[in-house]
Amino acid sequence: MMPKEEIRKPLLRATQHPDASMSDPGSPVVGILGTGDFSRSLARRLVTSGFPVVVGSRNPKRCSSLFPEDVEVTSQHQAASQADLVFVAIHPEHYSTLGSLREALAGKAVVDVSNSTCLNRDGPSQAEQLAAMFPECSVVKGFNVISAWTLQTGPRDGSRQVLICGDSSQAKNSVFHICRSTGFHPVDMGTLSAARDIENTPLLLFPSWCLPALATLLLFLFFYLYNFLRDILHPYLFAGKYVFYKLPVETVNVTFPCVALVLLALVYAPGVLAAFLQLSRGTKYRLFPAWLDVWLRSRKQLGLCSFLCATLHAVYSLCLPMRKSARYKLLNAAFKQVKAGQEDSWVEQEVWRMELYLSVGILALGLLSLLAATSLPTVANSLNWREFSFIQSRLGYAALVMATLHTLIYGWDRGLDPEQYRFYLPPPFLLVAVVPCGVLLARLGLALPCVARRLGRIRRGWEEKRHIRFTLPEDAGRSSMDDVSGV
Ligand code: NAP
Repeated sequence: MMPKEEIRKPLLRATQHPDASMSDPGSPVVGILGTGDFSRSLARRLVTSGFPVVVGSRNPKRCSSLFPEDVEVTSQHQAASQADLVFVAIHPEHYSTLGSLREALAGKAVVDVSNSTCLNRDGPSQAEQLAAMFPECSVVKGFNVISAWTLQTGPRDGSRQVLICGDSSQAKNSVFHICRSTGFHPVDMGTLSAARDIENTPLLLFPSWCLPALATLLLFLFFYLYNFLRDILHPYLFAGKYVFYKLPVETVNVTFPCVALVLLALVYAPGVLAAFLQLSRGTKYRLFPAWLDVWLRSRKQLGLCSFLCATLHAVYSLCLPMRKSARYKLLNAAFKQVKAGQEDSWVEQEVWRMELYLSVGILALGLLSLLAATSLPTVANSLNWREFSFIQSRLGYAALVMATLHTLIYGWDRGLDPEQYRFYLPPPFLLVAVVPCGVLLARLGLALPCVARRLGRIRRGWEEKRHIRFTLPEDAGRSSMDDVSGV
């Protein structure tokens, strides 16, 4: 809710607007019950959009100075009688005080803008309760997802979408008209039974991000602990080396690429699993298991989490040489080299490894940035389906190949070094490569002509014989059903 002093400073000066006092004679008279924050912002926006507005208050004298001159502030009963359509801008716990308005509101569209204070999972919505109180009215749910602040500043400074539902299409159309005229974008959510979801919408906290964020956090904790055991605890216990200074930067920097790569593989794994499931079932007309469905729907968020981790890895890597520890190590290595009388420490193989490692890493990050940019709705809307799937699928797999190569080149031949198996744990670059290599091999399997042909047919609606069964009423008693093989 916006602060009281803010709301008193109108951003929309209705009386100064050239069209403010010129309400369209054909426009419906809009009534608003209540004179709080929401009512004042809505009244200003409606007046600016050319609607005649009448506000109903329990104490009109006290509140009339809070509204623009063009707004008539009167009693609740008078406002309900004069208006063609009424917004109820009152907290739902006070709806019971509106009983005396039943007659004045009869036959009119009544808009419930209320929000709940907690998630409502199975009870009736506030809009449905209002509809039960006023059975002669057409109750429409809407505008609750728009804050009083957004109403004042206008849609340019907030969400444009207004979710609307109601049982009467005529009443809904009137609300759509008001919504469009005030610069917002109405979204029809169906009948009044959708009101509970609309009321819950402002209370949800990143609903589609819970699982991807949890997966990212758990992977981060796992790999951080893994790297801590191998790179910090092992040298401390077995060689007496105190390298705990690595915890804030080095260990974090080797953890982020592990998380980024596994998450990126997890973006493509469910698609591959779904394809194998369709191949084994011989049909696409059977639902995926619920867990796979949820996983498929989380791919965009998983990809964005992967992009975040890869970007952080790049930033950490760029900062590595700035650290004091890196400078001391370099000086010490140079001093040792001078002391040993070694003039040139160039190792051709190491040089090539580093060049390739960096190059594929940069390419992987570039491709991931492209995937992230095209997942934004505004960019995605400018692409046709083929362009979008080319970027998300083909370039996505290219990013996965690059990121896997980046990891494998980092490991080079060190995977064969027994020193790398501390506490019998394989080095992280080998461990993390398992999931993406598995996904890439499975994807290659799906690209085999015989497999791809069968999958393509299944996805165009072909079904294996055993799945196609038609039952006639007279067959109901038979134990086995006829196969229709020619379809
Ligand atoms: P508010 O500032 O507290 O105003 C509520 C108004 O209700 C009062 O000014 C009062 O006006 C009127 N009212 C009528 N009968 C009442 C009673 N028995 N007891 C107390 N007040 C009574 O609330 P608001 O922020 O404008 O919110 C109003 C509705 O809009 C709520 O349902 C809220 O969920 C919804 N909403 C608000 C926002 C927002 O940003 N504020 C956003 C979306 C939805 P009179 O004294 O003049 O009668």
